[in-house]
Amino acid sequence: MTTDLGAQDLTALLDSARQDYSELAGRGLKLDLTRGKPAPDQLDLSNELLTLPGEGVLKAADGTDTRNYGGLNGLPELRAIFAELLQVPVAQLLASGNSSLELMHDAFVQALLSPLPGAQSRWVDQGPIKFLAPVPGYDRHFSICERFGIEMIPVPMTETGPDMEVVTRLVAADASIKGIWAIPKYSNPTGVTYSDDTVRQLAEMPTAAPDFRIFWDNAYSVHHLTDERVEVADVLALATAAGHADRVFVFGSTSKITFAGAGVGFFGASEANVKWWLGNLSKRSIGPDKVNHLRHAAFLGSAEGVLAHMDKHRALIAPKFQATLRILSEQLDGTGLGTWTEPKGGYFITLEVPEGTASDIVARAAEIGVALTPAGAAHPLGQDPKDSIIRIAPTFPTLENLEAAVLALTTCVKLVGYEQRLK
Ligand code: PLP
Repeated sequence: MTTDLGAQDLTALLDSARQDYSELAGRGLKLDLTRGKPAPDQLDLSNELLTLPGEGVLKAADGTDTRNYGGLNGLPELRAIFAELLQVPVAQLLASGNSSLELMHDAFVQALLSPLPGAQSRWVDQGPIKFLAPVPGYDRHFSICERFGIEMIPVPMTETGPDMEVVTRLVAADASIKGIWAIPKYSNPTGVTYSDDTVRQLAEMPTAAPDFRIFWDNAYSVHHLTDERVEVADVLALATAAGHADRVFVFGSTSKITFAGAGVGFFGASEANVKWWLGNLSKRSIGPDKVNHLRHAAFLGSAEGVLAHMDKHRALIAPKFQATLRILSEQLDGTGLGTWTEPKGGYFITLEVPEGTASDIVARAAEIGVALTPAGAAHPLGQDPKDSIIRIAPTFPTLENLEAAVLALTTCVKLVGYEQRLK
């Protein structure tokens, strides 16, 4: 292990990293590993949508003219497909606009402004409220809380989900904790899938707040990278069986199934929650884009159709994940300068570097033309107390650009890592 190296060896390694770095600096790179976006070839997989539902095909199975107003719940045939995949009874699953993030945002706004089922009052009237934020987590979740002045309490992620000892202790004691962010499958950015035990505890745990909500963001429910289609326990059913039917808000979307900018978002919950949601929604909309729902239902066909379509995504992006992991391993194995996740699905690899080096690595990478998600982004308020987490998003670049970017990243890891060791 080079961790045991003396100053002379370390100096040689640093010199070599410096040489690699200046060579890269001379190449005028312009590479981007930031956002987890589908690549153009992934979007091409759904181009048939552009000609659907097809001329003269206007009506849903129940005779609804999809071009017109109405149908706040969304098209039943599309909801039926995703009910199975998102583990929500079809009557309790709504199909909406093109983004699940906006549904999560709206859930906060509505809970702030009108009492949730089980609540005596609106969140805005309950004094300062808090949310549990598993870390590392998704920056846009945290931005929503920040936007509304909701304090976030970081909870460490483990290999089986958020540390449930911490979660259960906190939520039992503090009624101002109103909920928790959860990305149950192939989590952003760690790739962690919640164990059955974690899901059961989340569903069953006593909470001091009667209006506690789990924001169950199942963004990667069908986004497998291996032969194994990893399953997650049915949180809504478990919560309902435990007498906490209203505890769960389920979110999902087709953003990384069809078109990221023109897909369909879903909201699912208990009957009481759905009634509350629709009551609020009816002031905001006369109905969603049902033509988009219809073409999605025609294109995807069934839950099995969605899974078959996701196999095509996997064929395009699994090699990118493999290439990233190969380069990380070739360059960093045995250096003691990094460990990383090997996700079975989702969109990200998390690279953990020595404490106090992540921001510097990201800055050095930027100087040679490699854009990385800001260090700290996976933590509330963008502050990683250890400054050690870097999120890698391999899907968008071409394989060639990805390989160049990851190699450059590992050069920066070595440069900053050896500099730190020699300080
Ligand atoms: N939730 C998670 C965990 C994500 O990683 C993303 C996108 O990266 C989203 C939600 C965004 O979802 P949507 O496109 O449906 O708004």
